[in-house]
Amino acid sequence: MTPPESQPTVAPALTDQFARPLRDLRISVLDRCNYRCPYCMPTEVFGEKYQFLPREKLLTFEEIERLVRIFLDFGVEKIRITGGEPLLRHGLQDLIGRLRALDDRLDIALTTNGSLLPKWAGSLAKAGLRRITVSLDSLDPDIYHRMNGERFGVERVLEGIAAAESVGLGPIKINCVVQRGVNDDGLVDLARHFHGTGHILRFIEFMDVGTRNQWDLEQVVDASEIVERIGAEIPLEPADPNYVGEVATRWRYADGGGEIGVIASVSAPFCGDCTRARLTTEGSLVTCLFADGGVDLRAPMRAGADDEALRAAISSTWTTRKDRYSEERGELLQVEGTTPSRERVEMYQIGG
Ligand code: SAM
Ligand code: SF4
Ligand code: SF4
Repeated sequence: MTPPESQPTVAPALTDQFARPLRDLRISVLDRCNYRCPYCMPTEVFGEKYQFLPREKLLTFEEIERLVRIFLDFGVEKIRITGGEPLLRHGLQDLIGRLRALDDRLDIALTTNGSLLPKWAGSLAKAGLRRITVSLDSLDPDIYHRMNGERFGVERVLEGIAAAESVGLGPIKINCVVQRGVNDDGLVDLARHFHGTGHILRFIEFMDVGTRNQWDLEQVVDASEIVERIGAEIPLEPADPNYVGEVATRWRYADGGGEIGVIASVSAPFCGDCTRARLTTEGSLVTCLFADGGVDLRAPMRAGADDEALRAAISSTWTTRKDRYSEERGELLQVEGTTPSRERVEMYQIGG
């Protein structure tokens, strides 16, 4: 029997060469940032004269919406808006509104450094954003300042977190990148600060993303050490993952004061469960945080490609995917003590 004409054709879920389904899409909406975190956009490289993308090279909101529509047909369930600093993208709430209009149940989240949240939290929530992640590496004003390239103070971010909470964006995830000798002395302070608030602090091992952050294994504090150090002050017990493929390993406070997560991308890679695709600011589809490039979707879109052609490009990119960089890094570190040497897309282009 032929299906009724009004019924849309839904493409089957896409799986890659290791049978990993495409479930999440991270969209970098801007390459610019008002911070210069040394582990992401060091000031020496991204100085006053650094040429960011001109406006016409950024995907427009119409283009993003069109691509997201196709990704949803392929089974994507979660969209994360990131950058650079996404809140610097003019009219971001319009994009959130467009994506929300596609599907009221779609999980739309956003990662931000929080500095502009006091201004924008309300309109983002009104446009349909329901979840937010705020990056905060330290509560110590000097360390925080150093870790963001001497831009804003901690107070502003705490204000941003409060603003997000007050408009219903809580519980909020707080991301902290841990670097030995830089901010690791303040992990327990962060844990104490958010203990009992309902917000979920997540510690991320410092990663060798991109090629410009002087990554050094010596600066990585293993997730197990992070858990040990916090657990020694506020006892922790393991918690089950919320779903298969969750990147953070969950630990709950034994006293019922909430939970933390650790993202062990270096010490315990999770490539086997990686279901994330990334769309760069310029509209390239990238299938790994450590990829050396992506597949351009903007050029065909601007040359008049129809949805079928875009669908085919996305499908062939995902189904031929074999990425497992973090596992390869682990193997190489064990055998040769080095990391794979190759070009890598920079973090601010793909947004983590
Ligand atoms: N500007 C926003 C922010 O900082 O939240 C969004 C983009 S930022 C690239 C996304 C996340 O990547 C942040 O939580 C940031 O701390 C994290 N990140 C950046 N460079 C990293 C690195 N080398 N290792 C681990 N995490 C990193
Ligand atoms: Fe900007 Fe975020 Fe990168 Fe820091 S981590 S420089 S806030 S994009
Ligand atoms: Fe996914 Fe690549 Fe990270 Fe592995 S290294 S978890 S494949 S993004």
